[in-house]
Amino acid sequence: MIGQDLLGIESLDRERIELILETAEKMQEIGTRDVKKVPTLRGRTVVNLFFEPSTRTQTSFEIAGKRLAADVVNFSVSSSSLSKAESLLDTAKTLDAMDPDAVIVRHKVAGVPQRIADVLDAPVINAGDGAHEHPTQALLDMLTVYQEKGRIEGLSVAIIGDIAHSRVARSNIYGFTRLGAEVRVAGPPTMLPPQVDVLGVKAYTSLREALDGVDVVMALRIQNERLGGGIFPSVREYSSTFGLDRAKLRFARPDAIVMHPGPVNRGVELSHDLADHRPSVILDQVRNGVALRMALLYLIAGRDFPQDQE
Ligand code: ASP
Repeated sequence: MIGQDLLGIESLDRERIELILETAEKMQEIGTRDVKKVPTLRGRTVVNLFFEPSTRTQTSFEIAGKRLAADVVNFSVSSSSLSKAESLLDTAKTLDAMDPDAVIVRHKVAGVPQRIADVLDAPVINAGDGAHEHPTQALLDMLTVYQEKGRIEGLSVAIIGDIAHSRVARSNIYGFTRLGAEVRVAGPPTMLPPQVDVLGVKAYTSLREALDGVDVVMALRIQNERLGGGIFPSVREYSSTFGLDRAKLRFARPDAIVMHPGPVNRGVELSHDLADHRPSVILDQVRNGVALRMALLYLIAGRDFPQDQE
């Protein structure tokens, strides 16, 4: 994967997904060491180009790069020439002329990482674009499920919430179906994209039916910033119908796990109790995100220096 972009899960085959997950498992050990640093990416430069606020993804990429000894630069949009009306692509080209080895891009508009990748020499990793894809989130979710359940093939995964506006849902649908899981999506009809079955998933408007016998329940955040309004009557109604608590979780398998990409609206998508305790694995997802992003940076930007070079 050296030098290649990672723009979405849609274009990743099963072999590539498995390679990334296996590499991430090897990276996990480094995070348990006393000195959490290896020289793998020494001399490499990773640029975090985030045009949309992010806590966990940006920090996670920064820690991942630093654990591999890369120089990580956070490009801050407000302090940049973008606020002086420089075009997005000019900014990207300017950064590219500084020869980074990987550029991580997040933008509120779907397709921007692709546009930037088209003009950059450096490989681009999509850290979330609009309602399109969030590939690194889906990969860390697959890693978490694999480690919890010992497999992905043959599992049932229910994704609950605003499927239509969720890049996390879309990337996870591609990933889990490609690895042989059954994926169900559930939410109010206004939050289900039309013809979602084309993606190989079954849609439900009843939480009870969607959860029946599933191994994994993934709750999504209600994305107020991406809603045009009028999509659901009230937060209270949403939470009483689709918010997960222990009572509703009984519809799933007794050993089902609960996931959430964060940030959680407590008491809306998840009860306080479930947000903090097993069977939810939210902090494992965050922890796995670092190892997963280390794996990607290594696979994409980690070519070895020639031995005789200083
Ligand atoms: N953090 C995830 C994202 O950036 C999920 C969310 O914000 O709802 O898409």
